[in-house]
Amino acid sequence: MYPTPDATTLPDPPGPQPVVLCVDDQPIVGEAIRRLLLTEPDIRYHFCSDPAKAVETAAAVGATTILQDIVMPGIDGLGLLRDYRSHAATQEIPVIMLSSTAETTVKRDAFNAGANDYLVKLPDGIELVARIRMHSHSYFAQKMLRETQRELAERNQELKRLSSEDGLTGVANRRVFDETLRTEWLRGARSGKSLGLVLLDVDCFKLFNDHYGHQGGDGVLQQVAAVLKQAAQRPADLAARYGGEEFVILLPETEINGVLQVAERLRSGVEALALEHKHSLVTDHVTVSVGAAATLAVAGLAPEALVQAADQALYSAKKEGRNRIRSAAVGAPNPLA
Ligand code: GH3
Ligand code: MG
Ligand code: MG
Repeated sequence: MYPTPDATTLPDPPGPQPVVLCVDDQPIVGEAIRRLLLTEPDIRYHFCSDPAKAVETAAAVGATTILQDIVMPGIDGLGLLRDYRSHAATQEIPVIMLSSTAETTVKRDAFNAGANDYLVKLPDGIELVARIRMHSHSYFAQKMLRETQRELAERNQELKRLSSEDGLTGVANRRVFDETLRTEWLRGARSGKSLGLVLLDVDCFKLFNDHYGHQGGDGVLQQVAAVLKQAAQRPADLAARYGGEEFVILLPETEINGVLQVAERLRSGVEALALEHKHSLVTDHVTVSVGAAATLAVAGLAPEALVQAADQALYSAKKEGRNRIRSAAVGAPNPLA
């Protein structure tokens, strides 16, 4: 009994077909090569007797191997070889030089010019077929490798994006913020420039969720994040979700006055959204409170001190009625502690 064929016992599907382009000014050579390949029905064969059209023909027929004559009237086969190499569509196609001489210096020049192989006319049919198959195979393998590498690079980029973005709002996530805070702190220490931070918290958000549902709340967070993205205007500014309904913008090379400007852009930007919030203790629409801080990265201070100051400022803004901005000095004793 033979086993029932299944995916593991079926033969491999036939590989891609080799496509040969022979470029020679003498049609008789083209015809001779065609006859040598008659025994190989899977090999497609094209002949081009006009070297001026060789590059475009190779691209048009999708050649997987080129058989290239070296000596042609008016044009040098080695020059043509360089032409193949300089065109995107043909630069990786293997080229077998077909020469009327076995002279070492001619061979050397051909390989120096980038030839993949060298045969003396007219080659033995078995050898010609074997080489065509070998070169076409390596051409396919090379192409597949390129394709796989490109796909891999694309997927890597997507993974990188997914692992650095907050899924709900599309701004950077907490991990990216923590890393960026550390690097910008070090950069600030070297440059002697002030590093700014705004910390934003949605007012009475628990009440919002309670009355409009969690999904409604998610929608608010997305709209607040959009305001955040707009407010982070310089390339180095980083808008991120700090956690829950709290967002931050890290502002490199920014003094406290600049930080306060961004903070006000956030506060007024969210207010301008005019998102209904009937149960807010502040007003009848969604508002945010913002804490602002800025500092020079000086010895004895850790980057967390900047976050702590913004957090203290935010606490003051909440305590003093919400929908407002407060700032706090970095390194000051924590009144919450
Ligand atoms: P305050 O004005 O003092 O900030 O009051 P609050 O209600 O905003 O603050 P509180 O910390 O009491 O509540 C925060 C709420 O934010 C509670 C939590 O369910 C909600 N929240 C946190 N993350 C999310 C989220 O991803 N989606 C939604 N819809 N709600 C969230
Ligand atoms: Mg909160
Ligand atoms: Mg809140």
